[in-house]
Formats: sequence, structure tokens, C-alpha cells
Amino acid sequence: MTEYRRREPVITIDGPAGAGKSTAGRRLAERLGYRFIDTGALYRALAVAVEAAGLSPDADEAKLRAHLEGVDVRLQGDRLLLDGRDVTEEIRTPRISELTSRLTRLATVRAKITPLQRRAAATGGVVLEGRDTGTVVCPDAEVKFYMDARLDERARRRHAELRARGVPVDFGTVRAEIEARDTQDTTRALAPLRKADTAIEVDTSELTIEQVVERMLAEVVGRRRPAGPRAARRAGRA
Ligand code: C5P
Repeated sequence: MTEYRRREPVITIDGPAGAGKSTAGRRLAERLGYRFIDTGALYRALAVAVEAAGLSPDADEAKLRAHLEGVDVRLQGDRLLLDGRDVTEEIRTPRISELTSRLTRLATVRAKITPLQRRAAATGGVVLEGRDTGTVVCPDAEVKFYMDARLDERARRRHAELRARGVPVDFGTVRAEIEARDTQDTTRALAPLRKADTAIEVDTSELTIEQVVERMLAEVVGRRRPAGPRAARRAGRA
């Protein structure tokens, strides 16, 4: 019997910092009329909560867990709320990036955020962007992408982004930070960054954002194309 899909597809985009996942993912979601979920932002919000409480990621994990249990993180449209407070801009500083990277190694932290991400994806019709969305959060996603770019190019983009927001930082520092985050993301024991077996690789080093989005759209549309008459006849016989 033909099996019908019950929901719109889930699309995942994983890859290292500065590969262009957020910008491309947001545009892809817009074009498809899907919801965009920046999974890293949820972790960043926890980092703000941990910092405000004066806790360190190296602190006692039980203490950290007790504190995080009472913390409410949610995405409301385009805004990120931490205990009802809008922290959408506040999470984008190098200090919070560094703290988030250290926190995301912890089981307590991942156990809090992963279910939120799964719940957000459950309806389908979503684009999730992060490090483990295709491997851990939604291993059954219909379309998976792995986006990457050369280190220098990723550092150049992140540097320009920070400068545009008025964050005074030099290129060498940004490059070193990205390199350190790559190492942390790929070598941690829990949910390390890696390409899912079925993920489509997109190297964005030489591509404009429009080219990246078009390439992804072509893949998504190609996979959603209804079966042709021959396949339909075959399915009818099955
Ligand atoms: O993507 P972004 O730079 O905002 O992610 C912040 C940090 O959160 C990264 O260092 C990464 O280690 C972590 N992260 C993660 N799993 C995700 C998304 C982000 O561990 N799904």
C-alpha cells in the first residue's frame, strides 16, 4: 500500500561557525513558507542565564542543572525569550559565543535544549540550523544539508558581521576563536559536529548567499517532486 507522508518535510542544516547556515537557512525557510529554527540561539540564551547567575560551566553539574531547571527559553517568532525577557541581540557577543561553546559540552545543557528543538520540529515545515540537527535532533529529517567553507572565509564573514554591529574586534582574534570553536564542536563527546551520512554537502566558500539558497531549493524541490506516471503505475502495482 502507498504510504502517505503525514507532514511537511523537516530540513536540517549543520556545519561549523561562519559557514552561512543562518542566513541561508532563514532565506530558504522564507522561500518555502517554513519556520526557521536557529538551534544555537537556544543554547546561547542558556549561556546568558548561566552568566547572570554567576555560574561557571566548570561548576558542579548538579548546581548547574538545578539552576537550568527553572530557566524558561523559547522562540517566539523571530524573537528569543529568556524567562520572558527578549535576549535576541544580547546573545551575539564573542563572550557569549565562548561561554555557549563550553556549556554545550554538558549533558545537562543538551538534555534541556534538545527536546525543545524536537518539539519545534514535530509539525514539519521547518528548517533547523545548528551542529547536530541532522544527526541527533532530527535524524529522520527528510532533507539534510552540511554546509562548510574555508576557515579564512568563515572568519572574514564573522569579522565583517561583528564590525557591522559595532563590536570592536580584529580579524586574527575572530579567526582564532572560530578555529577554537571548530575544535570544540568536532571533538566533544556529546553530539559532536559531523556530517550526517545522507547529508548534501554545500561548500559556500565561493558562492553568494543567493547561489547557496538556489542550490538548496533545487535539492528540496527535487526531493518533493511527485512521482511521474511510470513510478505511479509501479506504485499502483505494488
Ligand atoms: O550556531 P551558533 O554559533 O549560534 O552556536 C553557538 C554554540 O552552540 C556553538 O559553539 C555550538 O557548539 C553550539 N551548538 C550546539 N548544537 C547546536 C547548535 C549550536 O552544540 N545544534
